[in-house]
Amino acid sequence: MYQAPRGTADILPAEQAYRRYIEQKASLICGLYGYERIDTPTFENTKLFTRSIGDGTDIVEKEMYSFQDKGGNDITLRPEGTASVCRAYIEHGMANLPQPVKLFYLTSIYRYERPQAGRLREFHQFGYEAIGDADPVIDAEVIEMAWRFYESLGLKKLSLIVNSIGCSECRPNYLQKLRDYYDNCGEQLCKDCQTRRERNTLRLLDCKQPGCQKLIDNAPKSADYLCDSCAEHFNLLKKYLDDIGLPYSISHRLVRGLDYYTRTVFEIQPETEGAQNTLGGGGRYDNLIAELGGKPTAAIGFAAGIERIILNLKREDVQIPVISKPAVFLANMGENAKLAAVKLASDLRHAGIGIIQSTGTKSLKAQLRQANNLNMRFAIIIGDEEVASQTVVLKDMAAAGQENLSWDCLIPKLKEILTAST
Ligand code: AMP
Repeated sequence: MYQAPRGTADILPAEQAYRRYIEQKASLICGLYGYERIDTPTFENTKLFTRSIGDGTDIVEKEMYSFQDKGGNDITLRPEGTASVCRAYIEHGMANLPQPVKLFYLTSIYRYERPQAGRLREFHQFGYEAIGDADPVIDAEVIEMAWRFYESLGLKKLSLIVNSIGCSECRPNYLQKLRDYYDNCGEQLCKDCQTRRERNTLRLLDCKQPGCQKLIDNAPKSADYLCDSCAEHFNLLKKYLDDIGLPYSISHRLVRGLDYYTRTVFEIQPETEGAQNTLGGGGRYDNLIAELGGKPTAAIGFAAGIERIILNLKREDVQIPVISKPAVFLANMGENAKLAAVKLASDLRHAGIGIIQSTGTKSLKAQLRQANNLNMRFAIIIGDEEVASQTVVLKDMAAAGQENLSWDCLIPKLKEILTAST
């Protein structure tokens, strides 16, 4: 028996209503804030990701699906969306467009992680990027948009966490302070943190091991070591968020897992599980475009995990619209009736009426049982007698009654009763 690879999932019809709901809300919110859709390739040159995400990060060290293709090119399946969008921004000369350029994506992401609830190896993200403006007004707008997106989905039990991790001017000084602090913690650190201390100092702050929590609580805070311009940027952002009325809190633990972030970082977390199962996160990345070969260009973005949203929609029991299915079953009995039914089904669908058509090989009773099992609201029955008189029987599956209708009347009648009941 073949099975889907570990960490991947078939998205069965029952789950599609959630996806469509989320995608519709995402497109709607993007329309409101002026974001246009971009789709980039599923794979890119490996260097794009190693360069942008950073060598010492979990993604680059342990999680990328990388391989050489038959032409000897180093290829990686997209482990996040931002680097590809930035590559496209540079490649297509989008610096010449009015700035900021606002782009969104709905896409699959690949990370070789340990699968568990809400953690897959192939998952999906809704993400967006505002490229080409450094003003904190944009940060506030991007954060607000994320919050309004979850709000529009009907999710309520969420918290919004914000922090500033400074820029290339002030961060080295802060990192040194952090290293000095951790140098004195020695043996108390977990094994992973011993490595992080050298290779990815900031990530010490989002260690999940119980033994490291007290150390993190007392660690120096990035917001206390910002240079003047980062401090002003952060103060303005907080003011804008206050003015908008977003219920955010500031946490010095929030650093995010990728190297390219500068200044503002933020996450939206479920109240119950907090950072364990973050719903979405983002931040500013003012050096990334230049790092990838473009002109220095400030930018900020956000990405939300679709599977985690679905988990939370279910947990919060949010009712989502069902995807409509055909409500009319077409049964037939007899040679001539079968022929007529093929044409009738075609005419009805052409008129915009969804039909589940029986092949007529079973008894009428069995066909109607099938209609019942499929939860059909109406059944049209056509036998050789009806063909001769150019009529059909229309049966309301929930009621006892049925009526005879001429072929001419069938489409208007069905349209009337189906519209009246939606
Ligand atoms: P990141 O790019 O790591 O900031 O992830 C953005 C969002 O994608 C997270 O907040 C999660 O909602 C989601 N996400 C990240 N990794 C996974 C994963 N392995 N499986 C499912 N969702 C994920």
